[in-house]
Amino acid sequence: MVKSSDDVPPCPICGGILKYRDSRKRICKREGGAKDHLLIRRFVCCSCKAHHNELPDCLVPHKHYEAEVISGVIDGIVTESDLDSEDYPCHETMKRWKFWFHKNVPNIEGMIRRVCGKLFLQSALLSSIREMSVNWLETVVRIIYNSGGKLFSTGWAYAPDL
Ligand SMILES: [Zn+2]
Repeated sequence: MVKSSDDVPPCPICGGILKYRDSRKRICKREGGAKDHLLIRRFVCCSCKAHHNELPDCLVPHKHYEAEVISGVIDGIVTESDLDSEDYPCHETMKRWKFWFHKNVPNIEGMIRRVCGKLFLQSALLSSIREMSVNWLETVVRIIYNSGGKLFSTGWAYAPDL
């Protein structure tokens, strides 16, 4: 069991204090198919009463593989010919992640720009983050979800296991 981080961000909707509600189990798959069981804490906002699930660093919402594997596939570091990966993730899953990412690029750019304001003025902001950080997917997803944003899912035809 992997313990999640202790710091609780404020409510992404109203900025209020989040109160612990309960926890639920989630599976995080690693490259090669090994599984970790994570305990995800669920919170309720003291002000607006909205419910929020914690997002651990290693997870991308609605995806079972750890973010490192997903960004590895998107970056072309993890490929089907890797001995490590074998059938995990499979060809279809890799294709779906790439499709999901490319569909979300303008969305991600817009949301990071909104959150970070005028800190970043250059175009191709996402490309710069990808060059700067090995954990770019975790970073980007946390910025977006902790500020109340969401990414598009890939749609039913590409994402039967969401
Ligand atoms: Zn709130």
